[in-house]
Amino acid sequence: MFDRIAILDWSAAGTPKTGKDSIWLAIADGSGVRSENIPTRMQAEERLSALLAEGDRLLIGVDFSLSFPAAALERLGVDAAGLWRHLATNHTDTAKNLSNYRHVAAELNQRLEGDGPFWGNGAKADTPHLPRTKPASALPEWRACEEVAQANGLNPKSCWQLAGAGAVGAQSLTGMPMVYRLREQGATVWPFDPISRVTIAEVYPSILSAEVRAHLSRHPDMVLDQAQVELLAQALWVLNAGGTLPPLFDVEPTKEGHILGLNHELALRAAEPSAILPPRLRNDCFAMPQGVNWVPVDAALDKLKQALHPIKGVETINSHKAQGCILAADAVARRSNPPRPNSAVDGYGFAHEATSDGPQKLPLLQGRAAAGQPFDGAVPHGAAVRILTGAILPDGVDTVVLEEDCALDGASVIFDGPVKPRANTRKAGEDVESGQTAIRAGHVLRAPDIALLSALGIADVQVYEPLRVGVLSTGDELIARPDMDALPHQIFDANRPMLLSLLNGWGYAPVDLGHCEDDPKLIERTLDRANVDVILTSGGASAGDEDHVSHLLRTKGTLSSWRIALKPGRPLALAMWDGTPVFGLPGNPVAALVCALVFARPALSLMAGSGWAEPVGFTVPAAFEKHKKAGRREYLRARLNDQGKAEAFKSEGSGRISGLSWADGLVELPDEAAEITHGTPVRYIPYAMLGLR
Ligand code: AMP
Ligand code: MG
Repeated sequence: MFDRIAILDWSAAGTPKTGKDSIWLAIADGSGVRSENIPTRMQAEERLSALLAEGDRLLIGVDFSLSFPAAALERLGVDAAGLWRHLATNHTDTAKNLSNYRHVAAELNQRLEGDGPFWGNGAKADTPHLPRTKPASALPEWRACEEVAQANGLNPKSCWQLAGAGAVGAQSLTGMPMVYRLREQGATVWPFDPISRVTIAEVYPSILSAEVRAHLSRHPDMVLDQAQVELLAQALWVLNAGGTLPPLFDVEPTKEGHILGLNHELALRAAEPSAILPPRLRNDCFAMPQGVNWVPVDAALDKLKQALHPIKGVETINSHKAQGCILAADAVARRSNPPRPNSAVDGYGFAHEATSDGPQKLPLLQGRAAAGQPFDGAVPHGAAVRILTGAILPDGVDTVVLEEDCALDGASVIFDGPVKPRANTRKAGEDVESGQTAIRAGHVLRAPDIALLSALGIADVQVYEPLRVGVLSTGDELIARPDMDALPHQIFDANRPMLLSLLNGWGYAPVDLGHCEDDPKLIERTLDRANVDVILTSGGASAGDEDHVSHLLRTKGTLSSWRIALKPGRPLALAMWDGTPVFGLPGNPVAALVCALVFARPALSLMAGSGWAEPVGFTVPAAFEKHKKAGRREYLRARLNDQGKAEAFKSEGSGRISGLSWADGLVELPDEAAEITHGTPVRYIPYAMLGLR
């Protein structure tokens, strides 16, 4: 039906504004969704005019009302189009967002009986004829569609309310004039006009409020308004692409207008989130500021952290099968653990109040309480019952005494008081209460997490689809497999099997893209056909004659060659290839591994949905000596000796693959100069902490 869907979150702010409660515009199409935060209404109107002129079939959803209750229109003697014209004529706005909407409202108030209907003034200065609080008005507060929204459990605000949390009145008064002008440029306004190439409709982003909450738990840095417009744009896009959008437009004509999606909430919610594409990475996301020469490691990491975000869709899977998956929405307990108060030991249960100091003798009831076999009936005050570990405390029991501390005489149980109230019992929900968040989005699920999900009655979880990472080796000298014959000038490809196994250990879906000779055409074809989320290449990444990867990425993709102050490591080539991020690692296996561990690991973790992964290291005494110059961070192949001190590999030569295998971790030396002698504290990062298995 449409080529693109734009959703606008409007704002009546009195100054240019970005962030929360400002103007957000999300645009969804076949390639995903992206959003823009636009500081002023004038800029937003220019943006929409430009979109309208682009020639695509476009649906523009706006989050303000496009009409008033019918009785008010009748009193004013206009229809909706007449209202837009009136507002376009009387409303003024500036490039600084200075709108006269309060005066426009006050003028309308004077033409309508009573003190209102418009009310609410967020400004210091009074506006005559605009009451600050809600006046009694003879006019209805709601349009029919808003009454439907309320009946459907939504919470619309009245178009008469100009100020206060979530008020839409001011947004309508500032937005309808723009709608009038866009209509003059050829747009039509549903349901007042027929649907056309560019159709404007009123929408209600809160229809997806539960989905928005889940989305925000996955993207804690995202602004609410942004999440709302992106999700609604995506959901409408999914219906559009699946051919199920037309029924949403099928309503009775009315001058009050309608909210698109009303009575189709389930369809919209079902369209979100599994079928939707996550936001795309920007093509210029790896761009380094001009003139930057050597980038310190931390600056490069910061830049990556900013540039990237989760790029995978979400799927729902059975929690028993979720090992290794990344949780995409907080897992909320469906049941408390334990669900009911129970006994922590095998013993005898009774009411604490019936006991005192000194020897106790309580008559023992027939029967017992066991796990899975609750005691049938209540325990009278002053009596005791046999109870086993995990059994629900019967009514009348709040305390349990350990069987080892009791004697039995056939009819009674005998023990020494005093006993602590609630001794040896577990409270309901003492571990996790129903409704509590048990595991946060972004967590990688392991065996203990699966135990917790099960205990809390969580059968299904939302997880990110696995990140598919392609690995490509380049170089004329390489031969693909060690079982092939090698000529003297040839070497076996070491990087590709290393990187594939690294990715496997990190829990991603590795995709072997094979090996390419240094032939730009061949490399280009391989990149084009990769069909993966991220590509790691090795070799040919610097700027020399034979460095075909960086040349290709520069000419046909968007390459940013980062000269990172790092040893071992040469420039890291970061690029977008037709929307897919490419990490061009050095060819040298030692440098390739270090760059993969330092840069690719946290970046992939972020893109996969588990957040930026900081390496965890600890400080140990050095068992080596080294004079380190200032200017570059250095990673040494290292391992702990039997005294817990870090030994470094005997050679720093970056072609020495044996050192990688000899090592159990890396020693990280700071950017600054350092004089290391035996016993100097150094930072050691075990391979295990870098996800090497
Ligand atoms: P390059 O980055 O292409 O200039 O390669 C730097 C060094 O790493 C050269 O000695 C290459 O032969 C070597 N090299 C490149 N790729 C690999 C690979 N996949 N396996 C082993 N060594 C490689
Ligand atoms: Mg090469």
